[in-house]
Amino acid sequence: MDYQSILEKIRADVTPLFGQGKVATYIPALASADPYDFAMSLQLVNGESYHIGSCEKTFSIQSISKVFMYEMALSLFEASLIGRVNVEPSGNPFNSLIQLEYEKGIPRNPFINPGAIVIADMLTSHFGNNAYDTILHYFQNCSNNFSIDIDTEIASSELESGYRNYALANLMKSFGNIKNPIDDVLHTYFNACSIRANTVCLARSVLHLANQGIDPITNNTLLCGEHSKRINALMLTCGHYDASGEFAYKIGLPGKSGVGGGIVAIVPDIMSIAVYSPALNHHGNSLIGTKALELFTRYSGHTIF
Ligand code: GLU
Repeated sequence: MDYQSILEKIRADVTPLFGQGKVATYIPALASADPYDFAMSLQLVNGESYHIGSCEKTFSIQSISKVFMYEMALSLFEASLIGRVNVEPSGNPFNSLIQLEYEKGIPRNPFINPGAIVIADMLTSHFGNNAYDTILHYFQNCSNNFSIDIDTEIASSELESGYRNYALANLMKSFGNIKNPIDDVLHTYFNACSIRANTVCLARSVLHLANQGIDPITNNTLLCGEHSKRINALMLTCGHYDASGEFAYKIGLPGKSGVGGGIVAIVPDIMSIAVYSPALNHHGNSLIGTKALELFTRYSGHTIF
């Protein structure tokens, strides 16, 4: 298939949409992103890769880090996840407090903020206050790129403006579902969200999820096949907050978005995809990124359904 032509056609098709959507401003350090930026990368399991746009430009991966945190948690403490974080779609915004109150501090899934904060708590218990460093290292390992780093300016900006995340963490602590001091847990969480990467590296970082947990290029086993299946299932059902159903309906691929404007998606056995465009729709997902993925599935015919 001529993937490069498909990428070029997608770029032409999404060009009229620039100017729609809004860059996230609730984290002040994200507000300076250029809403006209666009990049898309395809990483095939056979080693080929295709790119378009500003694919070398790094951005904050934000909630895409939740995938890697949960991968680590599944491998480390599978049984103890029961009762701490569920695996159901939330149907609510990523930072909603309401459901958490009536569900007694147990988050619906690990891909919304409260779920990832519980996972950050578990990783902090296991690795101590430098847990974020271990998460970064895991991400570097997945992407086979050891120069990736955390943007400390974004991490501090999140810390200073993270009122809702503090509220979520405090609420869960009141129900006994956070074990460590709130500041330590959010330190882990905000730093993980502030990893910077470009689409080339992001696509590469989830390639193992298209290949039963094994990186097909290095042959490193990052996850067992069973866990890879579960992560894909969660990406399909919970990867886009309260627009997860719509993403599955229109795109039909497991995926995960972040408010930095990135989205990753998996075509099982064939490739992983990363797209970047920082202007978001009202669900907090990249508006053009979502459209680009929809067009990709239409032009390539790649979908799990
Ligand atoms: N760090 C962001 C927050 O906690 C992540 C949100 C996202 O990307 O969905 O609000």
